[in-house]
Amino acid sequence: MSDERDATKVVQAGRKPEWTQGIVNPPVWRASTILYDSVAELRARGAADTHHKLFYGRRGTPTQWSLADALTELEPGAEATLLYPSGVAAIAAALLAVLAPGDQLLLADNAYDPTRNLANGLLKRFGIETVFYDPLIGAGIAGLCTERTRAIFMESPGSLTFEVQDIPAIVAVAKARGITTLLDNTWATPLLLPAIPLGIDYSILACTKYVVGHSDVMLGSVTAAAGQYQRLRATTYQLGQTASPDDAWLGARGLRTMAVRLDQHGRSARKIAEWLTGRPEVARVLHPALPDCPGHETFVRDFRGASGLFSFVLNGGDEAARAALIDGLQHFGIGYSWGGYESLAIPVDPQHHRTATKWEAEGPLVRLQIGLEDADDLIADLEAGLARFAKARG
Ligand SMILES: *Cc1c(COP(=O)(O)O)cnc(C)c1O
Repeated sequence: MSDERDATKVVQAGRKPEWTQGIVNPPVWRASTILYDSVAELRARGAADTHHKLFYGRRGTPTQWSLADALTELEPGAEATLLYPSGVAAIAAALLAVLAPGDQLLLADNAYDPTRNLANGLLKRFGIETVFYDPLIGAGIAGLCTERTRAIFMESPGSLTFEVQDIPAIVAVAKARGITTLLDNTWATPLLLPAIPLGIDYSILACTKYVVGHSDVMLGSVTAAAGQYQRLRATTYQLGQTASPDDAWLGARGLRTMAVRLDQHGRSARKIAEWLTGRPEVARVLHPALPDCPGHETFVRDFRGASGLFSFVLNGGDEAARAALIDGLQHFGIGYSWGGYESLAIPVDPQHHRTATKWEAEGPLVRLQIGLEDADDLIADLEAGLARFAKARG
């Protein structure tokens, strides 16, 4: 099926007849115990490869395998995918699969804060050193690689400030040195950036966001390139990580509409971002499809489009003026996460989450998740918000 186009794949992938039994959506197979006919069969099943075979509930049922297989199909050249109870759990399992005490990790300075916390917490405690790098470093990352560097973790674009990394340049440096590469691909998903064909070893998604798409499930995934799956699986089994069949089922249901949702999120976000660039209250719009976003040329070269999350920098003003903008919004909720059908706005302060680079801006930052509401309603809402901001700024 891998020759089909993506919108077709998200509808069809993972729906094997033996898993669906003829039902359109693979049903929820809940299980802990799997029963065997005899002692001999129990022993034989334990000794064989249990990949996509019923063995014990923790190793999944057709419900989880169906979603995992569908995600694998979206990454041409991938070997297999494992699901996790959250995006952060997926990131942790992937990093623990490839790192050992004494190793060094290179981590993008604009990475999601919990990823930084994992590096500075658990990984550090287990003797793994993290060096943070400028997300715009590109091939210059060679200058940071040492004999101890075992992994490079990218997030592109960064989910607060949206710098786009030169993934192929970083991958080339890594491959020449036998360093494993991991990408948090939550913003683009494989539909806008197939990561495995770019040479990434582990493509990671917070499925909580666009795959689920309805703000009601926590779920993560790691898709491994050819030859990279076994160590991920071994570590994941040792950690006891598994995603519930009910959550996987909701993830699969979300996936079926992801192509049309992403398209709409992307178009509305682009329209709103462009509208914001013309506003005097706005100093800068951080959206990878806009020419002044750092890494824009790389974005145009590597990505098939943009999703619905971006930020903008206010022109002056303080915390209170920013809050006046956000608090009065009618169509934007105030809350973490994104990728659901509803719009969200939050204050973000990247200066607190950086060490390798310095964040300097003309004013405070607002991050928008553009949902599936009418874009013109969202623009009218933001227009009133910017007026509140200008009044509060004085
Ligand atoms: C939300 C998010 C995660 C973590 O996903 P959870 O499912 O919330 O644990 C990881 N990376 C990025 C970029 C995210 O936005």
